[in-house]
Amino acid sequence: MSSKQKTVAVHAGTRLAGSKAVPVSPPIYPAAVNWFDSSDDLDSALDGKDYAYARISAPNTTLLEEAVAALEGAEACVAYASGMAALRSVFEAQGFKPGDRLVMPADGYGVTRALYKRLCATLGVELHALLMTDPEVSARIRELKPRMVLAESISNPLLRVPDLRVLARACQDVGAAFVVDGTFPSPVGQRALALGADYAVQSTSKWLNGHSDALGGTVSASRERMAPLRAARVLAGDVLGPFEAWLTLRGLRTLPVRMKAHVEHAAHVARRLTESPLLERVIYPGLASHPDHATANALLLGGGPMVAFEIKGAGRAEGMRFLEALKVGRPGPSLGDVCTLVMHAASASARRFTPEERAAAGIQENLIRVSVGLEDPDDIADDLLAAVAQGARR
Ligand code: PLP
Repeated sequence: MSSKQKTVAVHAGTRLAGSKAVPVSPPIYPAAVNWFDSSDDLDSALDGKDYAYARISAPNTTLLEEAVAALEGAEACVAYASGMAALRSVFEAQGFKPGDRLVMPADGYGVTRALYKRLCATLGVELHALLMTDPEVSARIRELKPRMVLAESISNPLLRVPDLRVLARACQDVGAAFVVDGTFPSPVGQRALALGADYAVQSTSKWLNGHSDALGGTVSASRERMAPLRAARVLAGDVLGPFEAWLTLRGLRTLPVRMKAHVEHAAHVARRLTESPLLERVIYPGLASHPDHATANALLLGGGPMVAFEIKGAGRAEGMRFLEALKVGRPGPSLGDVCTLVMHAASASARRFTPEERAAAGIQENLIRVSVGLEDPDDIADDLLAAVAQGARR
């Protein structure tokens, strides 16, 4: 190599001396570009057999994809820059044509609804928003013969639990691709593919990461189904960055132990909340009073990690006062952190619904959603109850 300083500054220190050591924590590979001594090796890397350019593939993303695929029980996984990017990609992979139909939850995540509404409008696709726990939903799917059906493992924010096995049979009968957004329970709380889903989607920004420090999303499925999604990601460029992949993988290492504790805490908090005379209703799939309790028992780890409740007589102002009175829970617009995150549903997760869509989904101004954290569960319950009492005061 030349000893001229300009060249040395650019080229020196790019190769590590050979080592047989395997790091327990993988290194972060920020390189967007890799170069090869052999043009044959470069050629094969550009075919996806090695790392050439980070929009095609990158080591930290590969490691995360392997881990998520293993957790989902899938042959393959593709990671994206966010959960929404994952949901967009799985939609785009279906090859919708004008006149095709899409079925999605009427009571699901508002941003997914807004995205799919836009995509459907652009393509001339009919969007049918249905309640996935409606006993008639399978018959409607058979009637509509949609190209794709999206369900959420636990609906957001009303925590309804559809029977994915029943929906999967209806989808199979009409050849619809069955996509399940399993963000709320995480793959530890439910493996959607084993219940008949064709694709399992995660917003890894939530439980998989677990510490609210990286956005991300994944789609997992058979190798055959994932190949076009992988190819499309190279073109669309909505890849996950190496730092985010590394942080998410680090968080994922503790996912099973965290989820067990989150679910136990959620059950405890839900039980404590039922004692409050200030609440209209406590919504937790693990409670016998929940309309989908039997399905939750069969399909979820415990009753899941999320609790919701309606405050008696509260409107938006009381809801906001409640949020501001919290001392342990944090009023943050997300879920899946080690800390308890509390949200006023109508103004946050369902913000992008029209008032009519909110009413059809049954989301009222007094509805609060809680992602139950790893703090002491009695501290969480005491805090929520005290804040409800404070919110009710003028
Ligand atoms: N799916 C569900 C159920 C969600 O709650 C969210 C975000 O809140 C998403 C998807 C979108 O994920 P992201 O924020 O990573 O884009």
